[in-house]
Amino acid sequence: MHVPSSPLHPERRRLRWLLALPKFGMILLMAALFALLWLLQHSEKEEQRNILIKDVLWLEQNLRFHLEGNRDLLQQLAVDMVSPQERDRLFRVRSTHLLKNSPEISQISWLDPLGRPLASLPGYEANEEQRRIAEHRARAFEITRKLGKPTYSEPYTNSARESQVDLLVPIYDEAHLIGMLLASYPLNDLLTNQVPWWFTEKYKVEIVDDNDTLYATKTHLEGVNADSYQIPFEPPGHGLRLKVSNYPNDQGILQRLLTASILLLAGGVFWSLWLVRDLMQKSSRAEQALRAEHAFRAAMEDSLTVGMRARDLNGRVIYVNPAFCKMTGFSAEELVDHEPPMPYWAPEHLDDTQAMHQAVMAGLAPSDGFEITFMRKNGERFRALVYEAKLIDGNGRHTGWMASVLDITERERAEELARQQQEQLQFTARLVTLGEMASTLAHELNQPLAAIASYNTGCLNLLNNDNLSCAELKPALEKIGVQAQRAGKIIRRVHDFVRKSEPKRAPCALGEVIDDCLGFVEPEARKRQIRIEASIPDLPLLPADRLMLEQVLLNLMRNAMDAMCETPLPHRLLRLNARIDGSEVRVSVSDNGCGIAAEIKDKLYTAFFTTKQEGMGVGLSICRSIIEFHRGRLWAENNPDSPTGSGTLFIFTLPLEST
Ligand code: ADP
Repeated sequence: MHVPSSPLHPERRRLRWLLALPKFGMILLMAALFALLWLLQHSEKEEQRNILIKDVLWLEQNLRFHLEGNRDLLQQLAVDMVSPQERDRLFRVRSTHLLKNSPEISQISWLDPLGRPLASLPGYEANEEQRRIAEHRARAFEITRKLGKPTYSEPYTNSARESQVDLLVPIYDEAHLIGMLLASYPLNDLLTNQVPWWFTEKYKVEIVDDNDTLYATKTHLEGVNADSYQIPFEPPGHGLRLKVSNYPNDQGILQRLLTASILLLAGGVFWSLWLVRDLMQKSSRAEQALRAEHAFRAAMEDSLTVGMRARDLNGRVIYVNPAFCKMTGFSAEELVDHEPPMPYWAPEHLDDTQAMHQAVMAGLAPSDGFEITFMRKNGERFRALVYEAKLIDGNGRHTGWMASVLDITERERAEELARQQQEQLQFTARLVTLGEMASTLAHELNQPLAAIASYNTGCLNLLNNDNLSCAELKPALEKIGVQAQRAGKIIRRVHDFVRKSEPKRAPCALGEVIDDCLGFVEPEARKRQIRIEASIPDLPLLPADRLMLEQVLLNLMRNAMDAMCETPLPHRLLRLNARIDGSEVRVSVSDNGCGIAAEIKDKLYTAFFTTKQEGMGVGLSICRSIIEFHRGRLWAENNPDSPTGSGTLFIFTLPLEST
């Protein structure tokens, strides 16, 4: 079944929207999730950085306090070392104490005003390396001397190949520089001793300069650092910076894992959504097809002109279609669920109807249908032709009876009318033909009777002659006999025709029939000064009733002659044509007569329609019946070749083969 595709159904459009909603929802959810992840990561980073900064500040402060504490102690020592007697002892005792409490100090030296070491704790060996260091220290010494206050040296590499800074504290007696104290801080030792363990558990601590050159480091992990923070390391200054870095943590991997699993899950959800969508689309398509099918069936049901009625096995009505309701006048609600006797059963036929109902229920209904009289709601009776069939459900079970009901009242009435008309027609046809034959007979008999009369006069004249021999009389009498026989034949032919009841089709030569008819009408045509032209080729034998065909031809020719009674003499021409056209013979009778007005064209074949004073108006209707009986057609056209501009062309066809 083909169901035309409809524009997008509102239901489907809604479904599309419904299907799109979860997708939008999922996209939004994903976006929100990613945003949340990003925010979390961002705020965590922020927090980590804040903690880092705080810790760095704390460390820097711690180191500063410590270094400042040491500086203060050395300054105090420098003040106390002014007294010459106590100098040595004070230096030894306090330095030893300081070295003990501040393990980050590797050495404390006492220098004379020229920068030469007077004493040093712990002691040192004077070697090449020490000289290099001494040079370096000399610069710092000079700066301190100039500044007159404790200063730190620039970082340099000590004998242990480590970066180190020195703190130089001048010893003044009044305003005279009498020496200098020097404390060495190997930077690595500073970090090792002053950065607590827990700090290095969290961070990598480095001392770098502005160019990121590494001077010292304390870490318990090597590797790339995630985040770092630097602040100036002052004291000792000189562009040194404290750089603290976070260790790379596992959170990144965790986060990536989390993101990947979210993506995976989202993919899964999308996939399942797609499956659901596919499923829903399929079911929507199926629903659509079902709806179209249902609509198609309903439309088919509504447009059926045949009444349909379904009953269950007990005879209870379970379904009636609109045509059945229209036929009976009852609504579907009035009929459905109704049990016998039905409201449309005619009371006077109740017994018959009941018996037929029982037969149907027993499965004995005639397979070629049965006729029955039903009653409409308004009491009107109608004849119905009913076909009963088993109602089989989807599981193949016999669940009831399905009937198709045809209202045949009209058909029966029409058939009866047609039968009556046919009878009437045949009767009238006979009469008309009789009339026509009678006039032909009169005309035809005229000749032999006139001949007989004149021969008779001749014979009588001969009898007056006394010398009459029998031999003289004989030929005249013989001629009288011939003419009498001819008249007899004519009468027999008419008699045959009138007696004839059943039309009989037998092979007949149309050419001969036409010739005979021309013979019939010629005298009349001559009288009316009408020329007749006929062009008849050799035609095969046709299965036809010869007399009937004659009747048609005679009628058409007579009508043509009647139509030309007003036509100017030179144009009075009746033309007869016959030719083979495919599987049929086409015969036309044309005239240059008055023609047929458009308004009467449709009535021509109605019985008793005539425009003539003495006409009966049955000729053409008989002609058409005869031609249709022969499975041919008869119709009229305007004569296109008429010189007068009017004129008619009657055409009839006859099949070459009998069907
Ligand atoms: P009738 O000849 O007795 O009138 P027909 O049935 O033969 O009955 O013809 C019906 C009518 O058709 C005629 O009265 C006439 O008006 C019209 N008719 C038939 N043949 C012709 C024709 N060749 N030309 C014009 N009118 C015609």
